[in-house]
Amino acid sequence: MTIRNILKYGTESLREPSKEVHKVSKKITDLVNDLLETMYAKNGVGLAAPQIGVNYRVFVIDVSSNDEPLKPMVFINPKIIKKSGAVISNEGCLSFPEAYTDVRRYKNVTVKALDINGHPFILEAKDGSLLARAIQHEFDHLNGILFIDHCVNRFEADNVLKKFDLPPVDVDKLIDEPELKEELEAEQKND
Ligand code: ZN
Repeated sequence: MTIRNILKYGTESLREPSKEVHKVSKKITDLVNDLLETMYAKNGVGLAAPQIGVNYRVFVIDVSSNDEPLKPMVFINPKIIKKSGAVISNEGCLSFPEAYTDVRRYKNVTVKALDINGHPFILEAKDGSLLARAIQHEFDHLNGILFIDHCVNRFEADNVLKKFDLPPVDVDKLIDEPELKEELEAEQKND
């Protein structure tokens, strides 16, 4: 296992879609181990393979808190098969050191993926939990999508990026999210 260098925002390959894994070979289990070791070394909640320069559809997540035992979760060839609700999530990313901003996410997601042994599993993450948000964040990395593409306020996001010497929001990449916007507006009215 090796702690790998994490690519920073502005690196072109972070915008490239990743390839499916055809076989969970030793190359892939080594990749998973490197992802886990690098994520833990950097105190991250998740890390996707393209962030260490390997464009395969693999990510890892651990949402356990500091006083709990580690709970590594491995997702190979993940697919989000169900999503509903909307939530505002304050997020950062290991490829954006120290920069945090509010983004729109689904509240509930169901993901289907292969585990480290190549066995399929289905996982439901609900109520805007850290896990639900992390799955969406890491899944996006496999399609070259970054959290700032979902930002609630592009000007605020730009200010944060500038503060940490990162390139500005990529305006062409911003994602229009009418269903999420509507859902969030409806919730505000109910408050
Ligand atoms: Zn990230």
